[in-house]
Amino acid sequence: MNSELQRLLAMQNDHVLNTYTRDTMMVRGQGSYLWDAEGRRYLDFTMGISVCNLGHCHPRVTAALCAQAGTLVHASNLFYNDKQPQLAKLIADHSFGGKVFFANSGAEANEGLIKLARRWGNTQSDGKNNIIAMENSFHGRTLATLAATGRSKYRVGFQPDMPGFDFATYNDLDSVKAKITPRTAAILVEPVLGEGGVVPATPQFLTGLRQLCDQNNLLLLFDEVQTGMGRTGKFFAHQHFGVIPDAMSMAKALGNGIPLAAFEVQQRLADVLTPGTHASTFGGTPLACAAGIAVFETLEQENVLANANAMGELFEQELTALKAKHSYVTDIRRLGLMLGVDVGEKVKAIQEGCRKRGLLVLTAGEQTLRLMPALTINREQVLEGIAILAEAMA
Ligand SMILES: *Cc1c(COP(=O)(O)O)cnc(C)c1O
Repeated sequence: MNSELQRLLAMQNDHVLNTYTRDTMMVRGQGSYLWDAEGRRYLDFTMGISVCNLGHCHPRVTAALCAQAGTLVHASNLFYNDKQPQLAKLIADHSFGGKVFFANSGAEANEGLIKLARRWGNTQSDGKNNIIAMENSFHGRTLATLAATGRSKYRVGFQPDMPGFDFATYNDLDSVKAKITPRTAAILVEPVLGEGGVVPATPQFLTGLRQLCDQNNLLLLFDEVQTGMGRTGKFFAHQHFGVIPDAMSMAKALGNGIPLAAFEVQQRLADVLTPGTHASTFGGTPLACAAGIAVFETLEQENVLANANAMGELFEQELTALKAKHSYVTDIRRLGLMLGVDVGEKVKAIQEGCRKRGLLVLTAGEQTLRLMPALTINREQVLEGIAILAEAMA
């Protein structure tokens, strides 16, 4: 280890709170590759946890950021800026034509969904302000989004839990039905469980949720923070199912690495949040929105989604061949370039084996390898990664 790296790690140790488990310092990224502080190169199948979907330092996003950084970075939401309406229209045109609130993180966007549901529900009838969320879901680390997250380990030590959330079983419509009461205002669900193990919803589940919401006057809220922006081969995952939410959140890949998030609501709900009811200092700065516009333009103009779907099929073929060789591989799940491989208790060992050989992969849940490569990845890079994974699994 060189002395500069040692010096930085000592500073880190002294002055950065130790809330993450990590041991490699990354200093540069380009496309599907990352380089660490000691000059080692990694093929990246994590993409910053599905944030840099277009690859690291995509030239179009970098150019948009550089231009905007020299024009106007931030003027606050006391004023309009010229980038917000353009990005809002791009989001609306590629989803359900709604209205957008800009935020900075997935948790913040989900907080907005929760506030929307409560404020709407409270106008419908007294005490109609509870939300049904799913076991094994993940919605963020703020107090409300933690309370909505169906993995109690994240809440340990942070009691009291924020009230107002009930839990049902993912992909089990009857379990949701059983939780609906006159107090229920909304159902919050990821179209594909991300952190919970890369589990796509069944079409019957999402269609059934839509019907339950319509029959019981509830809002259907989709958390597309991880699944949005092309990750699953369409702009938003719910477009695979033909089920339209009343509102949805997005974040991770919206700015290809620049903190940028949003929630979008149907036009008929646009008056639930009136002036003064919700705000965010950094929400939708011209700088962040310039990145978001460049992301949409790249997705539209550079054939990215077609590539993601083709590369996803190649991954599935290659992973299926690996599954045939290793009996501990029990299942492969995929939507676009969001892939989960169940490998049981070997998951951490395989992840570490990959890293040592220059490939970065994620885990999800307790026994799933999660692969979320750049949507711009090419055939050679897929095969390069699969070869490393095959060695690590052997
Ligand atoms: C990452 C994630 C979040 C939280 O996003 P942050 O930007 O970390 O707050 C919420 N929901 C889902 C589905 C996520 O994957």
